[in-house]
Amino acid sequence: MRDLLVVGGGPAGLATAIHAARAGLDVEVWEPQGPAIDKACGEGLMPGAVSALTALGVDPEGQPLTGIRYLSPAHRAQARFRLGEGRGVRRTTLHTALRGAAEDAGVPLVKRAATNATQTGSHVVVDGVPARYLVAADGLHSRMSRALHLEGRPAANRRFGLRCHVETEPWTSYVEVHWSPTCEAYVTPVSARLVGVALLTSERASFAQQVSAFPELLEKMTGHSTGPVRGAGPLRRTTRCRVAGRVLLVGDASGYVDALTGEGISLALMQARAAVAAVAADRPHDYERDWQRITRRYRLMTTALVSSTRIPAVRRGIVPAAAAMPGVFAAAVNALARPA
Ligand SMILES: Cc1cc2nc3c(=O)[nH]c(=O)nc-3n(C[C@H](O)[C@H](O)[C@H](O)COP(=O)(O)OP(=O)(O)OC[C@H]3O[C@@H](n4cnc5c(N)ncnc54)[C@H](O)[C@@H]3O)c2cc1C
Repeated sequence: MRDLLVVGGGPAGLATAIHAARAGLDVEVWEPQGPAIDKACGEGLMPGAVSALTALGVDPEGQPLTGIRYLSPAHRAQARFRLGEGRGVRRTTLHTALRGAAEDAGVPLVKRAATNATQTGSHVVVDGVPARYLVAADGLHSRMSRALHLEGRPAANRRFGLRCHVETEPWTSYVEVHWSPTCEAYVTPVSARLVGVALLTSERASFAQQVSAFPELLEKMTGHSTGPVRGAGPLRRTTRCRVAGRVLLVGDASGYVDALTGEGISLALMQARAAVAAVAADRPHDYERDWQRITRRYRLMTTALVSSTRIPAVRRGIVPAAAAMPGVFAAAVNALARPA
């Protein structure tokens, strides 16, 4: 029987497996997709995510990110990252780098989807396969957390993400967040010839319809080829708890607020390290405390931003306020960018 079965081979699952192998645990990953997995994502690694990847020995190619810029038709505000650069990285590039590090660490990567899990006091059984511990890192629609009755209530306000890539030289080293009355367009340079555009909204309309609300951005996209559109959502996900017996939830499977502040991968990488420390010490419940600490700032700040900007007057005022109070904006950007 293995020490640890990881279900889901996205950033959370692969980082968990690399940490586990390095801690001397006998670990296996199940992931049905691949080899290089793409996903609807803004693809901006915040400085905390870059540091966490460096600590894993993972250094994916990408485009340096120096800060965050908010834009509306009449205003703009920007703040530089104080603690090092972030990086725009294609999901396929990030996945290939993490997968390579897992293989180098000797982790078996099994092409398989998990369907059901049960547990006794001494082990977990996933589709008939026993393991001492299970890390469920199977994303926003986690089947494992549903099987184990760990899901919370669905969110009342459902937001979705749509992203595509534009084949053009990046015009900025900042992650740009353009604000319209109903949607945010999140622009991230990911290579010397490619810029990602992710739209976040609760409206159900096509990418082309939604992006027309951003004339400045549309002008920059016009005349350049665009890649396929991918979608994801609903973005918000709640869970009742992050540890149940010998099962630990890591990454989006453990809970997610919104993509607006670009923290998902950073949090997933920090949670992976904490989950492995708890498993290696045979104290799984330590992870719940660590999860709370790692995610607290993000949960508070992202929930406040997403909820308040549902009010039209607050939404109209967000970029002017950030421009009028550059110190406050810089403090908020850097509070989210630094590791927990
Ligand atoms: C539109 C959008 C923009 C975003 N922008 C950013 C950003 O700029 N920066 C950032 O840091 N984060 C961003 N995020 C968040 C980020 O994408 C996620 O937080 C991150 O992918 C979480 O990693 P994960 O491994 O938990 O989940 P995932 O990346 O979703 O990986 C889960 C894996 O589990 C696998 N799986 C699912 N079911 C099963 C099963 N039954 N058995 C086995 N495997 C299974 C899936 O195939 C998948 O590979 C964004 C998200 C969205 C939707």
